[in-house]
Amino acid sequence: MAGEPQSDCLFCKIVSGDIPATIVRESETTVAFRDINPQAPTHVLVIPKVHYPDAASLAAAEPLVAADVLREAGEVAADEKVDASGYRIILNTGSGAGQTVFHAHAHVLGGRGLQWPPG
Ligand code: C5P
Repeated sequence: MAGEPQSDCLFCKIVSGDIPATIVRESETTVAFRDINPQAPTHVLVIPKVHYPDAASLAAAEPLVAADVLREAGEVAADEKVDASGYRIILNTGSGAGQTVFHAHAHVLGGRGLQWPPG
């Protein structure tokens, strides 16, 4: 059920500590950890502790937690000192857009020039 931990979800297992991750920030509702396949000098994922398959379904069901994810993404950028030069928050939604893990997550990318439009 949405909102409940899913036994087959990689990111639920990172939240529970069953799968290791390099955690850089944690709040009551979120965890932020370094992406294992970084695409920029700063590449951190911010995830809600509750399970929803993507950011839109999280925002529809738990808007305050969705806001926490965005706030924490900004805190990550400040911690990593990429806020002044500019950074990107990415919410891949659906396999056609490159989503591979179906637990809502925000990518925080920074520390290099970022092109527009993204590929
Ligand atoms: O948006 P998308 O679903 O493709 O992002 C999933 C991200 O999770 C990937 O960037 C992948 O490198 C990352 N990942 C991770 N740790 C894992 C498994 C995947 O950081 N154990």
